[in-house]
Amino acid sequence: MTGHFTTEAIVLNSIDYGESDRIVTFYTLGFGKVKGIAKGAKNSRKRFVNNLEPFSYIKLLIFQKENRDLSIIEQADIIRRFDKLVFDIERLAFGSYCLELLNEMTLEGQRNQKVFELLVKFLVMLNEGANLKTIIMFFKMKLLSLLGYHPHLDTCVSCKNIPIGSRVFFSSAKSGIVCSACKGNEKSLISVSPGTIKFLVLAARTDIEKVNNIDMADWAAKECEEVMGDFLTYQLGKELKSKRFLDKIQASALGGGNGL
Ligand SMILES: [Zn+2]
Repeated sequence: MTGHFTTEAIVLNSIDYGESDRIVTFYTLGFGKVKGIAKGAKNSRKRFVNNLEPFSYIKLLIFQKENRDLSIIEQADIIRRFDKLVFDIERLAFGSYCLELLNEMTLEGQRNQKVFELLVKFLVMLNEGANLKTIIMFFKMKLLSLLGYHPHLDTCVSCKNIPIGSRVFFSSAKSGIVCSACKGNEKSLISVSPGTIKFLVLAARTDIEKVNNIDMADWAAKECEEVMGDFLTYQLGKELKSKRFLDKIQASALGGGNGL
């Protein structure tokens, strides 16, 4: 596909390249993930202002040439800035983690309108002060579902029965829950309350804009974080770079570490 294209986009990542250029990764409405080069962007800030910084919601004009890895970024006009994030380092750290997660979990050129809409709604709500733990959980679960990684949470992945009892066990390797009868001696399973699993199902199915109506106890939030953290690390095969920054911020805010 060769030609000029215009689309709405969110900047996921932006790095200096060579003497004067920047390489920018976007998630776009029209084309999914796109990587482009902004020639001279480092020296001539006037042309792109700050519109190629992460979190910018822009109208993007690119030139794409067939079989070329990088598009040429020709113009980037701001649609909306999520300015409040700059003044709240914890929100900024969580937001950066989510941008990196989306970047890692998507391939270039695979359009997914629902993922783009989720990202925009998530950033609006994060910026407007939505409950932090709940909105991050919603974003992660919904993203997994939209990209086809939704874990099996209704019945035991081994015996297909609905688990009974006060604990169920999550297996990242099996991508779902295991009942106490099928658990055996498996050590890598995460023990959680059935209520936590119900919350994860709810997060995947409910519109992210309704997040403020949902109340989650601290222990449930912690269990959700443990399950999601383990599952995402398993799916990605690594920990995200922004996770270390996030852990640091949380440790200094709470006086202790906090898993994600
Ligand atoms: Zn079972």
